[in-house]
Amino acid sequence: MPDDRPIHVTRPFLPPLAELTPYLEEIWESRILSNAGPLHERFEGALCDHLGVDHASLVANGTLGLILALRALKITGEVITTPSSYVATSHALLWNQITPVFVDLDPDTLTIDPARIEAALTPRTTAILPVHCYGIPCDVGAIGGLAADHGLKVIYDAAPAFGVRLRGESILAHGDASVVSFHATKVFNTFEGGAVVCRDPATKQRVDELRNLGLAAGATVVSTGLNAKMSEFNAAVGLVQLRHVDALIDRRRELDRLYRRLLTGCRGIRCPALPAEVTANHAYFPILVEPDHALGRDALLERMARHRIHARSYFDPLISDHPMYRDLPSARPENLPVARRVSRSVICLPLSPDLADATVETIVGLIAGA
Ligand SMILES: *Cc1c(COP(=O)(O)O)cnc(C)c1O
Repeated sequence: MPDDRPIHVTRPFLPPLAELTPYLEEIWESRILSNAGPLHERFEGALCDHLGVDHASLVANGTLGLILALRALKITGEVITTPSSYVATSHALLWNQITPVFVDLDPDTLTIDPARIEAALTPRTTAILPVHCYGIPCDVGAIGGLAADHGLKVIYDAAPAFGVRLRGESILAHGDASVVSFHATKVFNTFEGGAVVCRDPATKQRVDELRNLGLAAGATVVSTGLNAKMSEFNAAVGLVQLRHVDALIDRRRELDRLYRRLLTGCRGIRCPALPAEVTANHAYFPILVEPDHALGRDALLERMARHRIHARSYFDPLISDHPMYRDLPSARPENLPVARRVSRSVICLPLSPDLADATVETIVGLIAGA
């Protein structure tokens, strides 16, 4: 180890303070702190340019973005979703009085298995809320096809998928809306923040109204909105972070390659493959500890922790295991065997741009039992 600081799965990136100063001076000068101020407008535009998407509405965080996207698209009844995510995904449904219907995972992509969606549809189903889990894209082609066949809307929880591209196009361009998070732990952060990305200007307008208490032009109240606005400070951080994010993802890519190379042939460890048409953001480095690993998942986590490597299990328990969800018919364990197996075998290894190659070598040494 280069030093004895503990190593965590994610480490928030802070840009040089000097780059933020001119923006802060602008805020202090204008005294506009919130409510779609000048930095907010610039960041919203710069974000669309960076991602190559038509419309984005900045919001205070990804969770509120999900709640508002569902509301803007008038989703009701039942929505198909995944049990393997942060609880924010299905909480956003409950906040809208929508019933989550959990569908099992594809064991290769760790995202929702499109082949199992049709069997879960009922006359009350109005939408699909899949998650690009770990930043790995869902099968957007199959999901879009199913949605078209059955007249359903698709809202992607794309919280961890900033910068992910599929055949050169932003993954956020898919679905009726995609929601990305700029939380401190994400690949791109504004401390707290997020955006709802959509193709249709009317949807963007509804999200813009909903994030500001439902106020439309002329201060008429047109919907039951929330206060989900992004402040000028967070927008300033976003404008600075945009300058750095590509280089940070490049460094993540190098670390990903190093992990994959060193873990090749390691008994009992599987690294989910990224399809060739995907440009990943390497938000996480999930591995699956399979039954033939010498230690098993939990003993391996303990071993790493003794060496100050705080790798973590993820989405264990599943959302469907929590008391408020576990009585739903779709939460039955026999409905979700792949998700269960994955939740008991996943470890996310440390991956942040400042991780040293030597630390990756140490971590792989611990996994391989050297
Ligand atoms: C981070 C995350 C969220 C929540 O985003 P916040 O900005 O923290 O509210 C929701 N879903 C997934 C899959 C996430 O990774």
